[in-house]
Amino acid sequence: MWIDSHCHLDFFSEAIIKKIMRSARNSQISNIVIPSVSPENLSRVLDIAGQDDILFYALGFHPIYIDEINNNDLTILSDCVKNNSPVAIGEIGIDLFTRKDNIFKQQDFLAAQLKIAIDYDLPVILHTRNAIDVVLKYLRKYKVRGGIAHAFNGSNQQAYQFIDLGFKLGFGGAMTFPRANHIQKLAKELPIESIVLETDSPDMPPFWLERDEQNQPKELEKIGMFLAELRGLDPHKMARMISKNTFEALPMLGKLCT
Ligand SMILES: [Zn+2]
Repeated sequence: MWIDSHCHLDFFSEAIIKKIMRSARNSQISNIVIPSVSPENLSRVLDIAGQDDILFYALGFHPIYIDEINNNDLTILSDCVKNNSPVAIGEIGIDLFTRKDNIFKQQDFLAAQLKIAIDYDLPVILHTRNAIDVVLKYLRKYKVRGGIAHAFNGSNQQAYQFIDLGFKLGFGGAMTFPRANHIQKLAKELPIESIVLETDSPDMPPFWLERDEQNQPKELEKIGMFLAELRGLDPHKMARMISKNTFEALPMLGKLCT
């Protein structure tokens, strides 16, 4: 069984979610974590996660939505965390690929959300696109209890900096492309204990999907097999190891589903 540690299921319509969940169950997907991205989708994420017992959620505001949020939304987030059972604070972080001009606001809201994670003793799910060193700087200042650096695509050295801070690194469809030499090398050579898997659905489609096919949690089984082959491991053993790693990164998830 495979855990999809990062899936934006709320980006799909209700009717499609039902189909997606059926296919996920048929493809050995044991759990799916849905990170929220903005104040607007908090209640929808909670609502969808409440519809199926293999669904779990993280609560937070994604850096690319940061222009839409203000300090009052941080209070709303904190209350929402207090009144529900998120497995992490996320998706939070910094994105300097999409925007650089609002970096100060991105940093302020990352810091504020790391403080919320500390207040509730929760791990964080991090977005670090073109911004790994900046995010690492904040993690050294605000000591959260680890979590996941999602869609990791940094250097070997940066990977070990996350690992030293108690983080796991998320890999998904991006590593399945024939020319993805760098990500494949990381996924093959980093300690297996530091790896978790994700689809980031509907983003980050794996290599084998056609243009008109949507990336969804069922692809995680094939992504897991790909990693097992890359590392020369038995897929069943690999799936068990990845589940253990994910429960270490998100202890509440482990508690709620084991
Ligand atoms: Zn995401």
